[in-house]
Amino acid sequence: MKRRIVVIEDEDAIRRGIVDALTMAGYDPVEAADGKAGLDEARRAGVDLVLLDLMLPVMDGFEVLARLQQTHSSLPVIILSARGTEDDRVRGLRGGADDYVVKPFSALELLARVDAVLRRSPERPQPVVRILLRETVVDCARREILSNDGSRVALSEMEASILQRLAAHAGRAISREELLSSVWGFRDGNIETRAIDMHITRLRSKLAAASPGAGTEWIATVRGKGYMLGPDVALEMDAPAGEQLAETESIE
Ligand code: CA
Repeated sequence: MKRRIVVIEDEDAIRRGIVDALTMAGYDPVEAADGKAGLDEARRAGVDLVLLDLMLPVMDGFEVLARLQQTHSSLPVIILSARGTEDDRVRGLRGGADDYVVKPFSALELLARVDAVLRRSPERPQPVVRILLRETVVDCARREILSNDGSRVALSEMEASILQRLAAHAGRAISREELLSSVWGFRDGNIETRAIDMHITRLRSKLAAASPGAGTEWIATVRGKGYMLGPDVALEMDAPAGEQLAETESIE
């Protein structure tokens, strides 16, 4: 599938040039000419990367970046920066951007940055094969929980998707909105985000049944941020060596 890139740039000629270059390189670009429209596009499901100008009408690039950090913090962003504004570039990187290119840039230069950021993007994580807590194992391929007494509990596709999403970003809280757009493909919305809470509750009780009392040790609630895998949960990746959880955020 072609990777989707949202191009937020108000100067028509520059935006068109970027879109043409991305199209030629096999990407699926989506255009936005102001910050608000760009933020809406960036929050849609299936977006892999955002190219973000800073000086934009309606909502400036820093505001777009800050809002994306609140709801879609794993979405990679490359800043399109004007020449001679080093402070802006630093501010952008501090604000959560992954990289920047300085205008005027060549198509080749831009594509090289895009390629580099997408390659290290957590949106394409190493597949998690097994998720473990104490004696209990979640087999992601089979979508089932194996407890140490040998019993098995099946997970729904939604439950498995949520768990895999949390595992792919272990050590970091994932907002309800981000879970919605990544797992369900919905837009932001109060009604739909409550559905996430319901699925989390059911997932926790299945996990707790397999490892008594440990529901919230599998999936922690992070106040004001969303959900994350608990700090004692271990992961096995589809790679030569297994990997343990890294540093974690504070947990409620
Ligand atoms: Ca501009």
